[in-house]
Parts: sequence; structure tokens; C-alpha cells
Amino acid sequence: MNEKYDLIVIGAGPGGYVGAIRAAQRGLKAAVIEKDKPGGVCLNIGCIPSKSLIHESNNFRLIPSLKELGVKIDAEEFDYRKVFERSRKAADTLSKGVDYLLKKNGIELIKGIATLKDSSTVLIDGDRELTARNILLATGSHPRQIPGFEFDHKQILSSDDALMLTKLPKSICILGGGAIGVEFAHIFNAFGVDVHIVEMLGHLVPLEDDDIAAELQKSFSKRGIHIHTLSKATTLKKTKTRCKITIENVEKNQETLSVDQVLVVVGRVPNTGKLGLENSGIQTDKGFIPVGDYYQTCSTGVFAVGDVVASPMLAHVASKEAQIAVEFMAGDNPQKWLDSNHIPSAVYCEPQIASFGLTEKQAKESGIPFKKATFPYRGVGKSVAVGSPEGMVKIIFDDKYKEILGCHLVGADATEIIHELLLAKKSELLPEDIASMVHAHPTLSEAVMESMRAVEGWAVHV
Ligand code: FAD
Repeated sequence: MNEKYDLIVIGAGPGGYVGAIRAAQRGLKAAVIEKDKPGGVCLNIGCIPSKSLIHESNNFRLIPSLKELGVKIDAEEFDYRKVFERSRKAADTLSKGVDYLLKKNGIELIKGIATLKDSSTVLIDGDRELTARNILLATGSHPRQIPGFEFDHKQILSSDDALMLTKLPKSICILGGGAIGVEFAHIFNAFGVDVHIVEMLGHLVPLEDDDIAAELQKSFSKRGIHIHTLSKATTLKKTKTRCKITIENVEKNQETLSVDQVLVVVGRVPNTGKLGLENSGIQTDKGFIPVGDYYQTCSTGVFAVGDVVASPMLAHVASKEAQIAVEFMAGDNPQKWLDSNHIPSAVYCEPQIASFGLTEKQAKESGIPFKKATFPYRGVGKSVAVGSPEGMVKIIFDDKYKEILGCHLVGADATEIIHELLLAKKSELLPEDIASMVHAHPTLSEAVMESMRAVEGWAVHV
């Protein structure tokens, strides 16, 4: 039987399910095909469970401060399995929530593995056939492996494995100091695991501004996390219980680390290999699907969004791209492409990091005449009152017109605070607009106001 739809979505992650709901809102008959649980990597094995673990690890880190107050806490009975179970509960609740939202919007969720038969036909598990005017590919990505350090899921872990641990190792070496690597380093360290991070580039979170990364490294080092930058893991020797890793830095100095487990988080690979793309004439570029202004592929009617296209691998990017693609299919006139300068990036370890736009280094490379202004968290009363004085706000702005070019935060609640700055950027506001806006006292957002006053040359609390 051949069933007909306006839109078939492959993959029910933040790209796929948001795209399907937006399609239903615009009156299109949509179906979603998902081989696993609704919510994709993000809800099931990414953003959500990792943030739950981070939340519990932050609670755990409060114990010494509570003890100082005379609170008696016996952590002897601490059971990491309970932390894990809470993270699974959060993931399951939200996955069921997606199921509910799809039903509420009249979208059929079909379980199975989908492949393209041609530009308008999708095969489910090789037999059931659906046709549609449009197809949205949102099949996401999977963890990248490094030769010689292949996942065995017991000692050599992927991020999927690390999120499913019910027992903590005593020591771990994390290969990759990007956002996912530092979030896991934060979690493990908070629960008392001896953590090493190995990063090939010059600093942790290599995509972030140098000063912001330096603050994070200072904080991590203080907490006893061993950071090996400009270094790469070269060899691995496994025994039943230990992993011996040789790491080599740029000066060719070698060091051997002996740990219980290794976590490899060196990026992700788009899920495009087994989709039958060749049946609709789509060729990938380094595994990614090339797309046009509205995420349309070279095959008429077929669109692709999220981790399968070459844009930042972030849940909010996937959702926004899906919205643009579907509104285009529906005949609306949506904005083209996501402006990369308007995409917030957020890292949820402590201290948190949030940013958008140009880093200082990128501003230098761009040749745009620019200036920078910084304001330290410790300058606002709230940061001292709540015991989070570490951190700063850094603004990169156009020297002539004072246009905001980039904003970078490191410190408590940075991932929430960033949005005021992003709204200002999107609305083409100037630093003086934020500098002169009354901010509630005491709040961490006052650091944002003060950073803009610093741009204007009159920060008060430094
Ligand atoms: P996915 O979420 O990967 O969903 C794709 C779906 O397609 C999956 O459910 C898969 O089962 C299904 N699928 C694949 N192939 C087929 C097929 N042939 N047939 C049927 N179904 C198929 N991003 C953030 O923005 N913030 C964060 O804090 C954050 N934290 C992260 C933490 C970790 C540990 C990881 C691994 C990732 C994190 N990410 C985060 C990244 C985020 O999860 C991804 O960018 C996002 O999930 C991509 O969405 P997507 O819709 O493109 O794909």
C-alpha cells in the first residue's frame, strides 16, 4: 500500500519533531519515521540527560559548603546509580512529551528504519512505502571514533556509554576538550573521579574566546582536573582493569596516563551513510548533506536539517533550520539561513560558558576595526552574595559604530544571561541601550549592563 503525505520527516530529534509540528501548524499532513525513541539524541542521549547529571553534580558540590554551616551530611551511602536513574527519568519524561505533542498535532509517528527510494518515496524497514510532496531528512549524528581508541563500551566509552554508566570509575581520561568533554569532566570531577582531559588544540573549548577558555581552565585546574592541551593520545594498552594511554604534546614530550576508563568525545559523524541518498541523486560532502538557502537539497522536494548539514551541531540550530525549511515548503517567506553570528553556544559545566558572534581572534582575522570591553563577575553584588565570583563578560564591538560583534560570558548562569545580549544584537541595539536600561539589583545580569557601560567607558563597579 502506498500512503500519501505532504511531508515525511525522517528522524524525531529536535530537527525532525519540531519540523513536523510546524508543518502541522501550517496545515500540512505530516508523518515522522523514527527508529528509536522520540526526541532523538538531544532528549534521550545528549542535552537532557547530560544536563540532569550536571544538575546533580552541582548539588553534590554544595556538600562542603553545607558542612561549613554545620549541616551533617553522610555521603557514605551515596549511590551514583540514583543520579543515573534521575537522568533517565528526565529523558523519558521529555521523550514521552514529544510523543504527546506529535499526537496532539495529528502527526503520525511511525516506528522503523527509513530509507529514500526516490525523491518522493520513503521505504520503512525495506517494505512499507510512503510518498510525499516533501521529505525532511533529520537523522542526526553519532559519536566519532579515533583509530586505535575504538569504543568497546566498557573501558573505551562514547558519550552514549558515559551517559549510561551506573557506576563511576575512579579515574578517567577524556579525549577531546570541546563542550561535551568539559561537561563530562565537570560531572566526573564533582563526584570525586580523577579526571584527565587531552585536547589537541591550544585550549579547552577551542571554539570559544581565548580569555573565556583561560577562565575555565583556571577554575578546572583549581578543582584538580588535569588538563593536557596541545597534546594528542597516541597509543593505548588495555589490561582487564586499566587503560594505559600515551599522550604526546607538540614538543614531542610523551607521558603515560593509567586510568580505569577512557571517554572519547572528539566530534560527531552525520547519519547519512545508510539513508539511500544516492536513490534521489544526493551526494554528501564529508558526510554532510549540501543544502541551499532554505535547507533544500539538490533533489527537488527533499530537505535536510540539523546534524546532517554542515552547521553547528546543536539542538536549537536543528529546530530553527527545520522551522525555516518547513515554512518554505508551506509557501511562506521565512528568513534565509541562520546567521551564524546570531547562534548562541552554551556549555553547562561550572563555570558555565555562553557566547555568540566573533571571538577576539576572529575579529582580528576579519580586519574589522574593533575594540573589546570586559567586566568581571565579582564586580556585581549577586555574584559575591551567592558565592560565584569567578567569571566575566567580554564584549567585542565595532570601533566606529559600536555595533555588537561578539559576546562571551563565563560564570554562573551564563547560559541564561546570554539571551539579553543576543536580543540586543538581533534588534540592532547599541551598547548604550543596555548600559542605560535599569537592571534589577542584585542580579548577575548587572554584569551584562556593566560590560556595556565598559564599552561606553563608564563601568561603575570596577
Ligand atoms: P538527532 O537528535 O540526532 O535525532 C535524529 C533522530 O533520527 C534519532 O532519533 C535517530 O534515531 C533517528 N534516525 C536516524 N536515522 C534514521 C533512519 N534511517 N530512520 C529512522 N530514524 C532515524 N546540543 C545543544 O544544543 N545543547 C546541549 O546542551 C547539547 N548537549 C549535548 C550533549 C551530548 C552528550 C551530545 C551527544 C549532544 C549534545 N548536543 C547538545 C547536540 C544535540 O544533541 C544535537 O545537535 C541534536 O540532537 C541534533 O538534532 P537532530 O534533530 O539533527 O538529530
